[in-house]
Amino acid sequence: MNAELIAVGTELLLGGTANLDAQIISEKLSELGINVYYHTVVGDNDARVKAAVEIAKSRADIIITTGGLGPTYDDMTKQTVAAAFGKELVRFADEEKRLRDWFSAPGYKFTENNLRQADFPEGCTILANPIGTAPGCAFESGGKHVVMLPGPPRECSRMLYEQAVPYLKKISGVGEIVSRNIHIYGMGESAVEDKLRDYMLELTNPTLAPYAKTGEVQLRVTAKAATREEAEKMMTPVIERVKAVLGDVIYGIDVKSLENAALLALKAKNLTLSSAESVTGGLIAKRLTDIPGSSAVFKGGVVSYSDEAKIALLGVSADTLDKYGAVSSETAREMALGAKAKLGTDFAVATTGNAGPDGEPLGLVYVAIATPDGNADVRELKMGHWDRDRIRTMAAHQAFDLVLKAAR
Ligand code: ATP
Ligand code: MG
Repeated sequence: MNAELIAVGTELLLGGTANLDAQIISEKLSELGINVYYHTVVGDNDARVKAAVEIAKSRADIIITTGGLGPTYDDMTKQTVAAAFGKELVRFADEEKRLRDWFSAPGYKFTENNLRQADFPEGCTILANPIGTAPGCAFESGGKHVVMLPGPPRECSRMLYEQAVPYLKKISGVGEIVSRNIHIYGMGESAVEDKLRDYMLELTNPTLAPYAKTGEVQLRVTAKAATREEAEKMMTPVIERVKAVLGDVIYGIDVKSLENAALLALKAKNLTLSSAESVTGGLIAKRLTDIPGSSAVFKGGVVSYSDEAKIALLGVSADTLDKYGAVSSETAREMALGAKAKLGTDFAVATTGNAGPDGEPLGLVYVAIATPDGNADVRELKMGHWDRDRIRTMAAHQAFDLVLKAAR
């Protein structure tokens, strides 16, 4: 089955409001395996909405509209869509009662135009709106399915997830759809695709598709089956095959982030971590402490931006700074060893570098990890082609990757 989305609202055409509903709905339909071939945006105009519906009717199995379900005169989606299918709007007594009850609450005033929200195409299924006054609806006519959702994204998404999805699953017979994410760090999207392209093309159910995130790649495995268990079972051999092909660049399956994976790896072995940050300015500590329960592993960090701070707080030697400079492998190493000693942890990570725009060479960063045996490993990174924000983000990524590899 394929679907077409029609977003109704002049504000969407004027640019004041982005068509967020289309994104929310398309994402969900793609998960359900329902192809979306067209998005239309049309203003609050009866003739043009009618024309859009006629076109959609001619080429889609499922038409989903958003907006224009409210009580005011410009809300006319229901009338127009119903008319396009030769249907009348009729008053639904239960909905009228619900509305009158809603407006009997203190501070509300019932006006006759509110009853427009109790009028629906004859014979339709009502989709309740637990957080607003305008319900949605769904009906089938001449082999076409129509679903109408409210405009406000909060209301639209909730009605979609809670009511439209079960309805769509039923009419399209999709059963259960389950996905798993394979997280990859240290191999680019094109290299991943290159290694798995033939396999990805060969797969139909489950499917395997790549998604690039900042500095990372994710592969999503999606299976459709009658039951959840069956879908899970179908994904196992695909995940095993991907693991065999990509090896240890995979840092987890369905983990939230690199820092999460690093933290979990340390926690599993009862190991602790601290940080000494220059170029990342606390980003590593921030990202670790964003994770609830991180205190069991992460003991603390030092932001040592100046040479003085590196000497006073971490015990980096003035000689090292003189001889090699703050941005050097030697300084990174002493920072990591210093943090490990001062904070008494099993591991410590350190960063130093030039994130730009000043400082030469731009984008040169050292990331170090001090390990339980008293040694430290250092990685040199050259990221001169990136901006400050990305250089810092990638330096933090590298630190988490070092932890992950060291903790394994
Ligand atoms: P209400 O009952 O609130 O009037 P409605 O279903 O009639 O809801 P509209 O009147 O068309 O919807 O829009 C209500 C609000 O939702 C407006 O603020 C509008 O900007 C926003 N909105 C409408 N359509 C979309 C959309 N496709 N994406 C994001 N926001 C939207
Ligand atoms: Mg409205």
